[in-house]
Amino acid sequence: MIDLSLTDEQTAFRDALRKFAQKEIAPLVEECEDKAEYPRAIFQKMAEPGYLGARFPVEFGGSGGDTMFSVIMSEELAYVSPGIYLGVYVHLYLALSAILFFGKEEQKQKYLVPGIKGDLISAWAFAEPSAGSDPGSMTTRAHRDGDDFVINGTKMFITNGTFADFVVVTAVTDPSLGMKGISLFIVDRDTPGFSVSRKLKKMGMKASEAAELVFEDCRVPATNMLGREHTGFLAAMGTLTEGRIVAAAFAVGMARAAHDAALAYAKIRPQFGQPIGKFQGLQWMLADMATQIEAAKLLTYQAAWLASRGAPHIKEASMAKLFATETATQVCAQAVQIHGGYGFMDEYPVSRFYRDCKLLEIGEGTSQIHRNTIAKTLGL
Ligand SMILES: Cc1cc2nc3c(=O)[nH]c(=O)nc-3n(C[C@H](O)[C@H](O)[C@H](O)COP(=O)(O)OP(=O)(O)OC[C@H]3O[C@@H](n4cnc5c(N)ncnc54)[C@H](O)[C@@H]3O)c2cc1C
Repeated sequence: MIDLSLTDEQTAFRDALRKFAQKEIAPLVEECEDKAEYPRAIFQKMAEPGYLGARFPVEFGGSGGDTMFSVIMSEELAYVSPGIYLGVYVHLYLALSAILFFGKEEQKQKYLVPGIKGDLISAWAFAEPSAGSDPGSMTTRAHRDGDDFVINGTKMFITNGTFADFVVVTAVTDPSLGMKGISLFIVDRDTPGFSVSRKLKKMGMKASEAAELVFEDCRVPATNMLGREHTGFLAAMGTLTEGRIVAAAFAVGMARAAHDAALAYAKIRPQFGQPIGKFQGLQWMLADMATQIEAAKLLTYQAAWLASRGAPHIKEASMAKLFATETATQVCAQAVQIHGGYGFMDEYPVSRFYRDCKLLEIGEGTSQIHRNTIAKTLGL
């Protein structure tokens, strides 16, 4: 029988993380947002109490937690700063998870172990200027040359790309196989032929950094291939499935933050001689927002519950990601509305949440791609 309640251990983890986020992350937000600079030291700060390793096996320096721990962390950190959490999310749930699931022992020792300690920071490079939703149009190529692979191509929108110590990158190793001809490689930052061509300016998630990366005759040892040759697409999809559940929790955290801010504001802002929260119009908005968030949370926890048991969860992960991210967009927009003109001002966090939330409907598979996935599970 499905049981979505948190265990004592999970509750203690959530409470400690909440305190950590208020103490260590909240004070950084304003400066990072204003300067559009990522606070890289946060990785080591999170590693010290063991948060970076919460979801990873003990043998690699983690605490052996399951997907529920990732969901809790995602919700709590996104609640405080979606932008700062985005860098952590990509490091843990895309790049390091791919190494955990598909890496060889030496790769785990070289990249995963220091990644969990916060000594090495990673990025995940899948998207390209002309290939986002459609991996079949990927043009980055890797060809074998003796004991090496030589990578050529450009990757776009890569979070942490400006400063990551290594990048997990997808490249086509056999163009005749289409999507099935993609492989994954680990590329160290100092590899000749690898460069960051530009840091991108963004609408939201300003505390995170996104970059365009160029690979020009970038030679990596064949031992840097992650998983088997031509299994990169499947590996990427496998990694992303869990990432999608965590992305859903990311959206729940943002929506909760926006709702809490709107609720608090509605109780103190007077108009027509009473707090605006006394007007039924706003009460119903806040009630609908709370209901949507609860539904999003339940879908997310259900998908995490299935994933934690190794049960099939492709449909549930897509449903949770789709519903939670669209909920966040709606809730954040309503939260701005409840704040009126102040909601449009940067000094109120709801304006930041409104700008940040849109990304979650685009990254980790757009809403349209998740509708396609769900439709397929319906036999369409
Ligand atoms: C701030 C930011 C950070 C990012 N970080 C990373 C990162 O770290 N690593 C990484 O690899 N990528 C990253 N991305 C890329 C992100 O994953 C892609 O933007 C996303 O997958 C969409 O691809 P696209 O932008 O090429 O849009 P497109 O695929 O061109 O889509 C454009 C529109 O067409 C729709 N569409 C496409 N195909 C279909 C279809 N079959 N049916 C219906 N509608 C369809 C889409 O839903 C969308 O509305 C990031 C993006 C942003 C904005």
